[in-house]
Amino acid sequence: MARGSVQKVDTRVETLVAELGDDVVVTRPESIEAYRRDWTGHASAGMPVAVVRARRAQDVQAAVRWAATHGIPVVPRGAGSGLSGGSLAVEGGLTISLDRMRAITVDPATRTATVEPGAFNAEVKAAAAEHGLWYPPDPSSFEICSIGGNIATNAGGLCCVKYGVTTDYVLGLDVVLADGSLLTLGGPRIKDVAGLSLTKLFVGSEGTLGIVTRAILRLVPAQAVASTLVATFASVDTAAEAVARIGATMRASMMELMDQTSINAVEDYQPMGLDRSAGALLIAQSDAPGAARGEEVALMEAACRELGAVECFTTDDPAEGEMFAAARRAAFPAIERRGSLMLEDVGVPVPRLPELLRGIAAIARERDVEIPVVAHAGDGNTHPIIVHDATDPGSEARAEQAFHEVMALAISLGGTITGEHGVGRLKKAALPDQLGPDVMALTRRVKEALDPQGILNPGAIF
Ligand SMILES: Cc1cc2nc3c(=O)[nH]c(=O)nc-3n(C[C@H](O)[C@H](O)[C@H](O)COP(=O)(O)OP(=O)(O)OC[C@H]3O[C@@H](n4cnc5c(N)ncnc54)[C@H](O)[C@@H]3O)c2cc1C
Repeated sequence: MARGSVQKVDTRVETLVAELGDDVVVTRPESIEAYRRDWTGHASAGMPVAVVRARRAQDVQAAVRWAATHGIPVVPRGAGSGLSGGSLAVEGGLTISLDRMRAITVDPATRTATVEPGAFNAEVKAAAAEHGLWYPPDPSSFEICSIGGNIATNAGGLCCVKYGVTTDYVLGLDVVLADGSLLTLGGPRIKDVAGLSLTKLFVGSEGTLGIVTRAILRLVPAQAVASTLVATFASVDTAAEAVARIGATMRASMMELMDQTSINAVEDYQPMGLDRSAGALLIAQSDAPGAARGEEVALMEAACRELGAVECFTTDDPAEGEMFAAARRAAFPAIERRGSLMLEDVGVPVPRLPELLRGIAAIARERDVEIPVVAHAGDGNTHPIIVHDATDPGSEARAEQAFHEVMALAISLGGTITGEHGVGRLKKAALPDQLGPDVMALTRRVKEALDPQGILNPGAIF
C-alpha cells in the first residue's frame, strides 16, 4: 500500500480506535516510530497505519478481526530484538505489539510457568528462580527479548547445547489465528500425544501462522553450579576442531567461541582482560553433578591441549565463569560499533564446523569485507557478522554478496541458513535452496490453510 493511500485507511483506523481506545491504538507517527524496526534497523521497514499495544488476548482478537475485514497486513511484535527483520513494520499494515502483556504465574506443583508473550525471557527466569526452578533457554539477548518473540523464532542460546531450545520447553499455547479466533493448544502436561503436534507448529512460525497470547512453559530444577574452561588458540580453525572433539565425547553445558576480531571488539567496548593476540577463544562449561563436573572440565582441557591450545584456564568460581559468558554476550553490541552489520546465523553439523569457519574466512578475503565470527559452537551454530560501510555502495554490495555466499556455503555443508534467529525478511531468498521445492510447497500449503488471506506477517519466511 502506498503512503498516499494511508488517508483512505484512516477512517477504518477510527473504527479500531473506537473499539479499543486511543490508549491501545497508537496512531501518532512519532509514537509509531519506536515500533517500526527490529535490531537490524533495516531500511525496508514500512510505515504502519497504527500500532495496537494489546492489553489482553481479546485486544489481539479484535485487532486481527479488524485487519482481516479490511485485508490489512498484521505484523506481530515482541520486544524488537530480532535479527532477521521478522518484526519490521509493513507499509500500510497494522503492527500488534505484545509489550504490555507481561503477566507470569509459576506453578511449582506442575513445574510450569504460564506466561503472557510480552514478558522478557529474563523475567521468566527470575520468576522461576523464586521457586528454585529454572527456565533454561537463554538467548544472549535474554534481558531485552520477549517470550513471544522467543517462541515465534524458536530461540536458542548459550546453554542449548545441553538443555535444548525454546520448543523443548513449550507445553501449551494460546494463539490468535488469522480470522481472530483464539485457539488453546496443549497444557501443563509433560506427556501429551493426542492429535497432531500443533503446539509445535506455531513454535518458530515467526508470526506467520498466528499470534501467541499465552504460553505454558516447562520449568526444571535450578541449574547446578558450573565450572568453566577458557582456552585460547592460534586459529579459529583449531578452536573449532576442539569443539568437535569435545562434542563427540560429552555434553558440555556451554561451548561458545569468539574469533580474534570479536575478542578485540569486546575489549574495545568494555575491557575485560581478554587476550587480544589470541586467534580464538573457547569458553566451555560443565554443570555435571559432583565429581563428574571436574572430570568433564579436565577432559575438555585435555582435548584443547592435545590440539595445541595456546593457553587453558579453568575455574570453579561461577562469578568468574559468568564474566567470560558476559564477554561473549557483549559481542553483538561491541561489533556494532565497527560499522553497519549484516548478521548471519548459519549452522552445520558440529564435525563440519572447521570447514564452515575456513569457508567464511575465504569469503571475507574474496569479498574484501570483515566477517568476525562468534558461535554457539557446541551446536554448530555460528554468527558470522558482516561489517560494512552502509554509506559506500561498493562496500554494501560486497557485503550483500558475502551474506548470500555464507548461507550457500552452510547449505553445501549440510547445514542451515538459520539456527535460531529465524528466516524473517532478510534470509528468505535462500530458504528454497535449503528446503527444496517439495518442502517449500508443503510449507506454503500449511500457510494457506491457516492464513488464506495472507495477512499474517506477509514478507516474512515466504
Ligand atoms: C544482542 C543480541 C543477542 C542475541 N542473541 C540471541 C541468541 O543467543 N539466540 C537467539 O535465538 N536469538 C538471539 N537474538 C535475537 C533475538 O533476541 C531473538 O530472535 C528473540 O527471540 C526475539 O524476541 P523479540 O521479543 O525481540 O521479538 P521481535 O524481534 O519483536 O520479533 C521476532 C519475530 O517474532 C514474531 N513475534 C513476536 N512476538 C510474537 C507473538 N507473540 N506471536 C507471534 N509472533 C511473534 C515477530 O513477528 C517476528 O517475526 C539476539 C539479539 C540481540 C540484539
